[in-house]
Amino acid sequence: MNVYLEKLERIEFIVTMCCTGKCRHCSEGDHSAYHGHIDGAAAAEAVTEVCRHYNIKSLMTFGGEPLLFPGTVCAIHSAAAKAGIGCREIITNGYFTKDKARIAEVAHMLAESGVNRILLSVDAFHQETIPAEPVELFAERARAEGLPIELSPAWLGGRDADNPYNAETRRLLERFSEKGFGIADGNVIFPKGNALKYLSDYTESFADIADPYEEDPRQLHSLCFSADGSVLKGNIYDNDIIDIIRDYRP
Ligand code: SF4
Repeated sequence: MNVYLEKLERIEFIVTMCCTGKCRHCSEGDHSAYHGHIDGAAAAEAVTEVCRHYNIKSLMTFGGEPLLFPGTVCAIHSAAAKAGIGCREIITNGYFTKDKARIAEVAHMLAESGVNRILLSVDAFHQETIPAEPVELFAERARAEGLPIELSPAWLGGRDADNPYNAETRRLLERFSEKGFGIADGNVIFPKGNALKYLSDYTESFADIADPYEEDPRQLHSLCFSADGSVLKGNIYDNDIIDIIRDYRP
């Protein structure tokens, strides 16, 4: 259909740019000016359409904090499950409410929607502004629903680097792993957004680290939808996703 998307195998959704965190390493910068989320029905329809033409192997939802809008997240994952996408992941900081009943309800919604991997952001940076208790509770409720959940920390200068942030991250991970939660690779902080602004004392730790989310625009493996519906050089609120894909030029 389009030579630049011949290798397309993954879909990503930035569900919202709103966030409950104010992380000093956030590559997206300050979230305070944002509101709203992608339209769940339009996003689900786009998933269904793309899967009619491409063999999509994985889909991920993230933000901002995606679980501020769990109905939208679940509409997307339900469409992914129905379309036969095998790997259906969400990255969340786990903090969208302190209400225990709501936490349980959202964990149940995620299980029903077919999410099959939760990556939970737990580290020194997230826990500077996000309390650990509701995050722990969410992790426990998600596990009780049978959802595979792994911790996904951000490392400064690499997993083995020695600095106060990584030391605090290791302490937090131990707290969670004592409860039986596994630890994924996580990611290494790269020079973008808040990291450039608030971690200037550590610039040498990440100056040479490439943005892992950047792709060659001439050979895209992943289709990334923004919270305002934009994708590639179009917008699903204005055009059919298949037309957007067909018309894409780097
Ligand atoms: S790193 Fe994640 S949790 Fe922290 S401010 Fe950015 S989007 Fe929010």
